[in-house]
Amino acid sequence: MQKNNLKALRLNKMVDEIEDYAILLLDRLGNIETWNRGAEHLKGYAAREILGSHFSIFYTPEDRQAGRPEYLLHIAAEKGSASDEGWRVRKDGSRFWGKIVITAIHDNDEIIGFTKVTKDLTAQKLSEQMQERYMHQLEARSKEMEQLAYIASHDLQEPLRTISRFTELLKMRHNHQLDEEGQMYLEIVHRSTGRMRELIKGILEYSLLGASREIVPVDLNELLDDLRTDLSNTISTTGTVIESQPMPVIHGYKTELRQLFQNLISNAIKFRKPDEPSVVRISGERNGEHWQFAVLDQGIGIESRFLEKIFLIFQRLHPRDQYPGTGIGLAYVRKIVELHDGKIWVESEPEVGSKFYFTLRDMKPL
Ligand code: ADP
Repeated sequence: MQKNNLKALRLNKMVDEIEDYAILLLDRLGNIETWNRGAEHLKGYAAREILGSHFSIFYTPEDRQAGRPEYLLHIAAEKGSASDEGWRVRKDGSRFWGKIVITAIHDNDEIIGFTKVTKDLTAQKLSEQMQERYMHQLEARSKEMEQLAYIASHDLQEPLRTISRFTELLKMRHNHQLDEEGQMYLEIVHRSTGRMRELIKGILEYSLLGASREIVPVDLNELLDDLRTDLSNTISTTGTVIESQPMPVIHGYKTELRQLFQNLISNAIKFRKPDEPSVVRISGERNGEHWQFAVLDQGIGIESRFLEKIFLIFQRLHPRDQYPGTGIGLAYVRKIVELHDGKIWVESEPEVGSKFYFTLRDMKPL
């Protein structure tokens, strides 16, 4: 008997000294019977101030009005225990985020009271809230940027069309009235206008990627067959060989997925070694929730310092007269991959070839 008393004493002392958890005993009605150091630390009351009070004192007025403390006690009595998380109130009125478990204590079949353990998760909760707020801000900012890109590129098209039309007219009707220098200037304006039209169209299309929000099953084998047909002219004139392994059917944005493969394959052909036909290898395999794809070529390759830069909009590594293009293709590709919760990266060696890898999640609605 004495041994048991000693054990109970040691247990009480241990509970009393735990600092990270508030551990209390409640009577059958929820009145506080014991108070440990962790409870004092967390809730700010000394034992003499709080013993005998009802535990609902720690709840917010809204929770009290909704009967939350009584409800939790009821569940603990019915089911043996009740868990909850939420804002609670300290003695000084400040709030903390508590995770609690209330457990019923029985003597034979009768409930004689409850234990209540509370852990302070305020820091974790606040950091979660900050993260959430930050994500919302980022999302809002990115939507705003997309809208801006759309409006700007859409509205710029009209004045540009006018410039373009009048430059044409000037060239057609008045070119002979200009001296050689004047004709050269006009030619430069004409070419730059054409290029600007291409860039603006690029931004407009970029801002519209994924706008349809229509997710459908896409058979990537069919998609590659269609691309082979579309690119047949380039394929035959350059002697390109496209080898692909059996591909999956995945749910996603159909037009965008097509554009993704088309841009990567077109680049693999465009950046081939001079006077050498290119061999493009395409494969896809499951990797957990995602599919991982590879588009490999044996072309001119990319220096390691440019491996990230090439995915930025309008970034190019070669003069336009050497390799035509606007530098928007890979920015499209990255955005499309991200629309499918994926990632893209490239491994490459100059003069040996490039390996573009990307992942896509099957966006099948749940
Ligand atoms: P564009 O093809 O219009 O120049 P992209 O955004 O598609 O624009 O590509 C950006 C740059 O990345 C290209 O200008 C080229 O320098 C490099 N690049 C892309 N794909 C390859 C590839 N398969 N091999 C070598 N370089 C590549």
